[in-house]
Amino acid sequence: MTMDCPYCRKVADLDQLPPEELVWTFPLSAVLLGSWQFYRGYCVLVLRKHATELSALTDAERRQFLEEMSLTAHAIELAFHPRKMNYEMLGNQVAHMHWHLIPRYPDDPESLQAIWLPVELAATDPAVASRLRGDPASRRETADLVRLQLRKLTQAAT
Ligand SMILES: [Zn+2]
Repeated sequence: MTMDCPYCRKVADLDQLPPEELVWTFPLSAVLLGSWQFYRGYCVLVLRKHATELSALTDAERRQFLEEMSLTAHAIELAFHPRKMNYEMLGNQVAHMHWHLIPRYPDDPESLQAIWLPVELAATDPAVASRLRGDPASRRETADLVRLQLRKLTQAAT
């Protein structure tokens, strides 16, 4: 763990996160509800140890991590029925491995692009920021709905 890494600090204290942010905890990763809930159900899957590349994981860890990512994406699909799931690992700003699981919907005005252009606009345009953030009051319900599906999927798997 690296204390100057924001995700290391966050995963060191998962119990302190509110239920509208911490959706689920897997053996290798934690599911956090993302900031931009215009993409309803958008989650960030954060590795619970500090690693920056898939090549830094053992084969067993990579397989387990992919399973956790697939379960999370499946839960978002079951909860919100997006047109398509997007999966992105970037890490240019925070290198600690985290995957953006972004459901895309038919009413998305940028439906053919990655979400990062509107997210960048949100930094300087309050109207875009407000649209992308969605209704803050619905975050708890969104997290609960993803959690409910994860509970069903992980119970079915055991
Ligand atoms: Zn880290």
